[in-house]
Amino acid sequence: MAFSDTSKVPVLVIDDEGDIRDGCERILIRHGCQVAKAPDGAAGLEAMRLDPAEIVLLDLKMPGMDGLEVLKLLRQSHPQVLVIVITGYATVETAIEAMKLGAYDFLPKPFQPDQLRLTVGRAMERLRLTQETERLERERRQTLVDLAGEKSRLRTVISALPLGILVTQPGGQVVLHNPAFCQMAGLGADSPPGQDISRYLAEPKVQQLARQVSSGKQGPANELPSVEFTTREGRCLLAQATPVLNGQGESLGAVLVFMDVTPYRMLDQLRQEFVAKVSHELRSPLSTILLQLTLLLGEEGAAPPQGHRHLLVRARERTQGLISFVRDLLDLSRLEDGGGEVQNPVEVGLEKLLLSVKESLSTQAQNRGMKLIVELPSEPLPTVFADLGGLESVFTNLVANAINYSPDGTRVRIRAWREGEAVKVAVADQGFGIEPEKLDKIFDRFYRIKNEKTRYVTGTGLGLPIVKSVVDSLGGQVEVASQLGEGSTFTVTLPATSP
Ligand code: ADP
Repeated sequence: MAFSDTSKVPVLVIDDEGDIRDGCERILIRHGCQVAKAPDGAAGLEAMRLDPAEIVLLDLKMPGMDGLEVLKLLRQSHPQVLVIVITGYATVETAIEAMKLGAYDFLPKPFQPDQLRLTVGRAMERLRLTQETERLERERRQTLVDLAGEKSRLRTVISALPLGILVTQPGGQVVLHNPAFCQMAGLGADSPPGQDISRYLAEPKVQQLARQVSSGKQGPANELPSVEFTTREGRCLLAQATPVLNGQGESLGAVLVFMDVTPYRMLDQLRQEFVAKVSHELRSPLSTILLQLTLLLGEEGAAPPQGHRHLLVRARERTQGLISFVRDLLDLSRLEDGGGEVQNPVEVGLEKLLLSVKESLSTQAQNRGMKLIVELPSEPLPTVFADLGGLESVFTNLVANAINYSPDGTRVRIRAWREGEAVKVAVADQGFGIEPEKLDKIFDRFYRIKNEKTRYVTGTGLGLPIVKSVVDSLGGQVEVASQLGEGSTFTVTLPATSP
């Protein structure tokens, strides 16, 4: 018979006595085994060849092939098989002989069913343990293979990355880098890791970044610390650092990723130059057109034919719009040229500046029946070290927006106060307000909110970007709070001039 049920242990009984064979079969079937029987050694070996058992009960004294001979052959063909030797003429010598030949156990005839169950049960337990050990060993080997594969895969990926990778330990020692990094840093192939970061990169800003992040000192969690720098070869690189933390949140080191941003910076510069040049070229012809239109509209004798005046008025408005667009573009490129530096810094008193901004926009407000209120503290405000023109454009833009994006007859409050080492200015209107999801977009260049209320307001979408650039360059910040239909408040915080 074939051992088909894999959940049962296959046992082969080789004995010339039919009663023993059948008795063993009955007992072992109830014991969870699948039993095959053979009346002599040759039949037993053949049965094993066709369908190997895991346990063999083998009678030693059989006609034909002797049991010990069968045992020898079995051990050769099936080294894993557990052979339990059965014999009616049990002597110590035969038992020793059988054990030497590799028998697993010994069962003297005649035996009780319990003895058989116990001996076979031990063999079954041994089988189970052997199989379990083999399974664990297979798994261990597989895990090692997986790990080795994973490691080399990771190394291949890191080596093939176009981004430069540098991994440092808390002390600043480099533990890993990839070819892209070596190329970006202008290092030869003979620069293996292991040394201090200063051996690989001369730029102090990056060294500081790596040391800070790898020793666990880093800025706000949501901001990836980064620095941009230029290498000796003139490449512009952006380095971003991420800490590597253990389960307790302690820093084990840092991973620095380097990106070559030279082409972007070149494009940026070209774009800035282009904008500055075009704006410059447009400004004077536009001013001339405006002047001529104003003259035409002002002079009675030169008045256009009846009915055409409104065309000229419209042309003048559009020209004025274009001129302010060009002015904004020039302001922006001037700010960008400075690379975020304050252009001509002087000590500016905000009281005077805010009153003059109010003055310059008062006609515009009056025309719309609006009130401009400036509220200043009784104590003088500390001065701000800034470019006067830049600061003027900040508050002119904010107050002009407050007027433009409000209904007629409302009021605009400009309030200034001191807060610690900073000066704050809030421009609050009772205007249309801004939807919450648009609040972070209004500082983007050319972004304008288009709806029923704003469609008649002319603008460029460059006012708030200018405000933000100037305030950023002064180390300050600008915030906005707004309620749709109620109004908006833009608050500028500027560091006071240090004494
Ligand atoms: P511009 O005013 O030229 O359109 P800005 O950059 O100054 O450009 O403003 C961008 C957009 O933000 C405006 O188009 C407007 O929709 C919105 N905005 C700015 N200030 C206010 C304000 N005080 N109240 C309501 N909306 C405003």
